[in-house]
Amino acid sequence: MKWTHEHEEVRRTLERFIDKEINPHVDAWEKAEIFPAHELFKKMGDLGLLGLTKPAEYGGSGLDYSFSMLMAETLGKVACGGVPMAIGVQTDMCTPALARFGSHELKQRFLAPAISGDNVACVGISEPGAGSDVAAIRTTARKDGDDYVINGSKMWITNSLQADWMCLLANTSEGAAHRNKSLIIVPLNTPGVKVESKIRKIGMFSSDTGLLHFDDVRVPQRNRIGEEGMGFTYQMMQFQEERLWSAANTIGGLTQCINKTIEYTRQREAFGHAILDNQYVHFRLAELKTEVESLRGMTYLALERYLSGEDVTELASMAKLKGGRLMRIVPDACLQFWGGMGFTWDNPVSRLYRDGRLGSIGAGADEVMLGIICKHMGTLPLRGAKA
Ligand SMILES: Cc1cc2nc3c(=O)[nH]c(=O)nc-3n(C[C@H](O)[C@H](O)[C@H](O)COP(=O)(O)OP(=O)(O)OC[C@H]3O[C@@H](n4cnc5c(N)ncnc54)[C@H](O)[C@@H]3O)c2cc1C
Repeated sequence: MKWTHEHEEVRRTLERFIDKEINPHVDAWEKAEIFPAHELFKKMGDLGLLGLTKPAEYGGSGLDYSFSMLMAETLGKVACGGVPMAIGVQTDMCTPALARFGSHELKQRFLAPAISGDNVACVGISEPGAGSDVAAIRTTARKDGDDYVINGSKMWITNSLQADWMCLLANTSEGAAHRNKSLIIVPLNTPGVKVESKIRKIGMFSSDTGLLHFDDVRVPQRNRIGEEGMGFTYQMMQFQEERLWSAANTIGGLTQCINKTIEYTRQREAFGHAILDNQYVHFRLAELKTEVESLRGMTYLALERYLSGEDVTELASMAKLKGGRLMRIVPDACLQFWGGMGFTWDNPVSRLYRDGRLGSIGAGADEVMLGIICKHMGTLPLRGAKA
């Protein structure tokens, strides 16, 4: 992947923003188990960072997907995983289908304020009874006059305690599970929406994660994205960008983790010399960097093919899988070299060790990625999964 002068400009802008507006506050946000999404997103919107790849007509910059990937990788410099994830939800997980298939009116009402940072948004796919198996969701949107009446629950929803609207997947008819679903934009101040609870987690503390109920929630049918019954297909397309984004963000986070470990072990001494000077330590760090660079190679290859219009389902799933696996290996190995400091709560490596565990679960678990890869290899027919 060749980064241009324009890419470098975006990278520098984002790095400055992270240094000034994010990292100085991360410890407080982690402690509070929430970050001020409206305030932060508005500042990002003012800098044009929330709509890099979105159409200019709605306030975006109209750039290609490499800019989203550059942003995801650069967000690896944030001193926690929760804030990048929340930003990624806004830019690359709940808005791609709206931008691609939404009506002009829907984009004016919901995409434009998500790009400007006036709205915080979330994506509601997972439910208490269905996560990996998207086709098995139970939430329904029944037609009544010009409206949909929505009933059901959505669980694990990132940003949902602060979000203004949700891109929600619901069953809009009976029939084949891949053809009966639609994506609908639901303003979360609509009567009948209830945030039941904030979910306590083992990591990603800065990011709020909620369980929501929808009890006879009435929204106009014109809030549907694109064609009725195409929601599953649109969501699978949306997942491609989510998985590429996740792999790029992993590259950034793991690179930071290794660099910080080199820094620490270079100045920390034991037995009369720096910890880093032990061959076991610098060889292991070299192995870990080699792994991260292999992830980079695979992710950039997927990106190049995606930019040229190819279907990258298999390669994006491989990159997501490899990223999830490395998130479990690299922070664990680095944490070891920090000794007792690695076992402390606010250590950057221990934070990644906790936050990174989500990489093998969220946006399609490792096993679901393996199923998709097997399906492409012709070795397994996988029904209903996040393919
Ligand atoms: C912090 C956090 C944030 C999240 N944010 C969002 C969000 O914003 N919006 C949203 O919609 N969802 C979100 N999710 C949900 C996430 O996408 C799901 O947790 C994930 O898809 C897994 O679904 P599940 O938890 O229901 O696990 P299940 O589907 O119950 O699966 C449990 C485990 O079973 C195994 N498994 C599943 N399928 C197979 C298979 N075919 N073969 C072999 N093993 C299998 C895997 O090991 C899997 O981890 C979030 C989750 C978390 C934890």
